[in-house]
Amino acid sequence: VAKRLEKFKTTIFTQMSMLAIKHGAINLGQGFPNFDGPDFVKEAAIQSIKEGKNQYARGYGVPDLNSAVAARFKKDSGLDVDPEKEVTVTSGCTEAIAATMLGLINPGDEVILFAPFYDSYEATLSMAGAKIKGITLRPRDFSLPIEELKSAVSKNTRAILLNTPHNPTGKMFTREELNVIASLCIENDVLVFADEVYDKLAFEMEHISIASLPGMYERTVTMNSLGKTFSLTGWKIGWAIAPPHLTWGIRQAHSYLTFATSTPMQYASATALRTPDSYYEELKRDYSAKKEILVEGLMKAGFTVYPSSGTYFVVVDHTPFGLENDIAFCEYLIKEVGVVAIPTSVFYLNPEEGKNLVRFTFCKDEDTLRSAVQRMKEKL
Ligand code: GLN
Repeated sequence: VAKRLEKFKTTIFTQMSMLAIKHGAINLGQGFPNFDGPDFVKEAAIQSIKEGKNQYARGYGVPDLNSAVAARFKKDSGLDVDPEKEVTVTSGCTEAIAATMLGLINPGDEVILFAPFYDSYEATLSMAGAKIKGITLRPRDFSLPIEELKSAVSKNTRAILLNTPHNPTGKMFTREELNVIASLCIENDVLVFADEVYDKLAFEMEHISIASLPGMYERTVTMNSLGKTFSLTGWKIGWAIAPPHLTWGIRQAHSYLTFATSTPMQYASATALRTPDSYYEELKRDYSAKKEILVEGLMKAGFTVYPSSGTYFVVVDHTPFGLENDIAFCEYLIKEVGVVAIPTSVFYLNPEEGKNLVRFTFCKDEDTLRSAVQRMKEKL
């Protein structure tokens, strides 16, 4: 394996899902719904295939989807973006992240990551040859250590990677925190790469796109996808929204990574994005009920549950159960209790910082959540 990937193992999500199958455990690890996306979107995909929309799509997205993405972004953030010049459709947000890093980062450029962070950030930054600077969110409330960030940002900083709502913690960056990040970026001419795939799963507060803050659009890449919002994680449709000078870099990388994304799924995704807002309200209502079942159950089982404002994840402290670290706890949970969670140490540059925490997802039907909770109450 190439040096730039040497230190990375099989992703934790793949590892844990394989263990779930092997042990017949309930999988509250990898974040994928165990229910299907809406019928009208699936019908639209079938229709597109039947209509013969099956050859290569335009590299940066079928016009219909670029427009639907721009219209949705306008509704959500108030920003007017040009669907032709500022939207690039990718194979999932993961590709948008990779194309952004590879298209806009030079070897040796410094990029700031907030730990814990989603695993693909570090790996794609490593592929791009970036120098990673990690800043660990404060324990417990996961707030931003502002002074630390201020001393980390300099003229050598090329970009800050921001994920809000945040995987794995469920933290949502507050307007105050976003303002601090924005002013540092403007002062030091730094870009922001914003992964906002959980924006429609914001329960406790309003989601704010950092691109919508004054002076930020021109230096921000906003990335999102269809998977979480429409419970279609296997479709792998994502996009990056950025001003033309940044879009150019992203499109160059995208052209040579995947060239284009699945044509019929793009047409169906455009249909999905044009759905009325009531869809999103219902989604949130559904997920709130699921969240309550999981959070209440975890508390009753004896965990300390950290507040999660968004995403379909919650992080808990497992130390009341006396296992030595997150990995040992997850192993015990799979083998002795029959439930899968994700250890969080893999999301930190220094694994020690995550050793007391594990992540559970509630993107499962209510019966599954209830059975998982029941097992933990009985067997932990
Ligand atoms: N984003 C999903 C999660 O955090 C997993 C995606 C993946 O398996 N790579 O659970």
